Amino acid sequence: MNGEQYLLLPGPTPVPERVVRAMNRSMINHRGPEFKAIHDEVVEGVKKIYHTNQHVVIYPSSGTGGLEAAVANFIAPGDRVLAISIGVFGDRFADIARAFGAKVEQLSFPWGKRADPARIKEKLEADTNHEIKAILMTHNETSTGAYNDIKAIRKAMGDHPALTLVDSVSGLAAIDLKMDEWGLDVVVSGSQKAFMIPPGLSFLAFNDRALEVHRKRSNSCFYWNVETSLEYQAKGQTPFTPPISLYYGLQEALKMIQEEGIDQITARHRHYRKLVRDSVRAMGLQLLTDDEAASPAVTSVLAPEGIGANSIRQYMLEKFNIVIAGGQKDLDDVIFRIGHLGYIRDLDLLTVITALEITLLQLNVPIQQGAGPRKAQECIIERLGDIERME
Ligand SMILES: *Cc1c(COP(=O)(O)O)cnc(C)c1O
Repeated sequence: MNGEQYLLLPGPTPVPERVVRAMNRSMINHRGPEFKAIHDEVVEGVKKIYHTNQHVVIYPSSGTGGLEAAVANFIAPGDRVLAISIGVFGDRFADIARAFGAKVEQLSFPWGKRADPARIKEKLEADTNHEIKAILMTHNETSTGAYNDIKAIRKAMGDHPALTLVDSVSGLAAIDLKMDEWGLDVVVSGSQKAFMIPPGLSFLAFNDRALEVHRKRSNSCFYWNVETSLEYQAKGQTPFTPPISLYYGLQEALKMIQEEGIDQITARHRHYRKLVRDSVRAMGLQLLTDDEAASPAVTSVLAPEGIGANSIRQYMLEKFNIVIAGGQKDLDDVIFRIGHLGYIRDLDLLTVITALEITLLQLNVPIQQGAGPRKAQECIIERLGDIERME
């Protein structure tokens, strides 16, 4: 098939040519001055994206490794933990805490919805002895395309002393998150979603309050130990050999993020959300999430009556070399998910919408030809007007 593949997954996401080239360099001594310069620059750069002046540790792992690091460092076996879940990744965070021996109480909300802060408030108010030590939550639930109002949840927690642990693997750098201002203690992210670099790095941000909890623990971990990481960080190093090529890529991606500006980036993602949702609706398709909960990073679309979501994906791959994601667990073959985070352009999404429409027509779904792409164009034109007015 001619041309590059269109990768519209909610991770891994397309990697810019600039980042690919930056990674294509020789190895250097990870205990030398050249690496120290890169290390110090990327740690500071990642902190800016979190809007934090606290600590960030970078691990060579996928996002799940970062979540496990959060649990291993800040939750002790036997701790009572409240895990809020709105989908597969919320369930996973709870499972990790269970694997480490925490007593997990799970508060789940229907898939496609966001968590209700009032329910969380109730739970915490009932915990008058402050037995709950930590609250786990997902910022952007990639499996459903709903995202949580973390700021509102944190506010609803009031002055309950439990640590707030947030999975923002697919949220950070696409959706607004202000770690310090919102009072979040621990926030995890990863490289292959909005950071525009390949899989293989996770980011663990934590504040002094969390570090204090870590220090009071009798047992902890070795490879993931944040205190060891901070010791080496002071020397511009990591305790163990870092994936140097990914650091090259991260350095370049952070430059791109700074050039564009984090507020511009989050605005761009909100625009993608509108473009995809409005276009898909114009085609007559249904969305899994309502507008309030809809993620700026990924959109879940219900397959039309009588057609499997996976047959739509299959057709788009075979005929157009376009990759979109399927549903997970109970949503397999029920929804397909269009990832629109990271290094994406308007015209990539117009292409996907056009391909989706042709696919549905070819599969004999009775839709009006041209409605989706027309709507996508309208959204693009509207946004161009907004940008020109701001300039
Ligand atoms: C991608 C993702 C993860 C981590 O998945 P890995 O495959 O381990 O990188 C965790 N949480 C969310 C919300 C994600 O989107």
